[in-house]
Amino acid sequence: MKQFISLIGYPLKHSVSPDFQQAALDYCKLDTRYEVWEVKAGDLPSAINRLRQPQNLGANITVPYKEAIIGLLDRIDDFARLVGAVNTVVNKDGSLTGFNTDAPGFLKALREDAGFEPENKEVLILGAGGAARAVSFVLLQEKVNTLIIANRSLAKAESLAGVLTKQAANSKMKTEIAAVALPSANLTKVVVHCQLIVNCTTVGMKHSSGAGKSPLASRLIHKDALVYDLVYNPSRTPLLKVAKAAGAKTIGGLPMLVYQGAASFKLWTGREAPLDIMLSAARKALVSTGG
Ligand code: NAP
Repeated sequence: MKQFISLIGYPLKHSVSPDFQQAALDYCKLDTRYEVWEVKAGDLPSAINRLRQPQNLGANITVPYKEAIIGLLDRIDDFARLVGAVNTVVNKDGSLTGFNTDAPGFLKALREDAGFEPENKEVLILGAGGAARAVSFVLLQEKVNTLIIANRSLAKAESLAGVLTKQAANSKMKTEIAAVALPSANLTKVVVHCQLIVNCTTVGMKHSSGAGKSPLASRLIHKDALVYDLVYNPSRTPLLKVAKAAGAKTIGGLPMLVYQGAASFKLWTGREAPLDIMLSAARKALVSTGG
C-alpha cells in the first residue's frame, strides 16, 4: 500500500520540508508521498482525524498549530509535553503520538554547525510561540546561566518564563529567567550582555506579516554574540544581515530544519535519514523559491 506523510499548517507557501523529505523518501526507495495539507484552524480536528487512516504514517505540524494540536492527540511524548509543543505526529494503528524534534534539531545545529556550547551562557530568546518553547526548554536542560524571553505580547513571554522558572526550581537549576516586551527599553538594557540571541518569531519570514523586517536593530547586537535565526526562508534573513553588519557570528535556520526533519523521518520510517540528500534538496528548494 502506498503510504503518506503530511505537513499540516497555515500558510505553507514558505516550506521546503516537502522537497527534502520527499528526496529522502525517494533515496531510501520508500513508496511514500510527503503531502502538503494547508489547513484552516476550524478544519484542524478533522485533518488530525484523517491521520488515523492506515495509509498515513504521520505528519509534521508547523505554524501556527504546534500547541493547538496537543489536545487532539492520543499520547504526547514526555519532552513534547514538557515543552508544550508538538511538531511531529506518528500514527500507529490509528493511535496518534506527538513528539518534538525541533529541540534536538536546534541543539545539534547550535553545537555542530555554529560550534557554540550553551552551558553557563547568557541567552536571549525572541518569541514565545511553539519554537521558542522548544528552544528555551532545551537550553534550560543544557544549563544556560540566563534565559530572557522577549515577545511582542508580554503576557505570553511572562507565561513562558513562569513555566521555565517552575521547571528550573523542580530540577534545582540556578538559571535566571526573565520576560521582557519586544521591543522595549528593558530589552535594550539586557541585550548587550547576551552571548546567544535566538530569533523564534516569524519576523523576517517570507510571506509572513513580518517579511523583510528584523526583530532587532543592528545597534543592539554585540559583536561577540552568536545570532541564530530559526527563520530559513529567506536564507539571508534581515536579522542575519543586521547581525553581520554588527560584526556578530550568525547561523540561519536551515541546518536545524534538516536535523529536526531527519529526526521526524526516523520516527515515521524507523530508518536513519540521509542527511546529505536532505540538506542539498533543501538548499535547492530554497534557491528555486528565491530564498
Ligand atoms: P508561532 O507559535 O506561531 O509563534 C510566532 C511567534 O512570532 C510569537 O512569539 C509571535 O508573537 C511572534 N510574532 C509574529 N509576528 C510578529 C510580529 N509582526 N512582530 C513581533 N513578533 C511577532 O510560530 P513558531 O512555530 O514558534 O515558529 C516561529 C518561527 O520559527 C517561524 O518562522 C518558523 O518557520 C521558525 N521555525 C523554524 C524551524 C527550523 O527548523 N528552522 C523550526 C521551528 C520553527 P506574539 O505572541 O506576540 O503573537
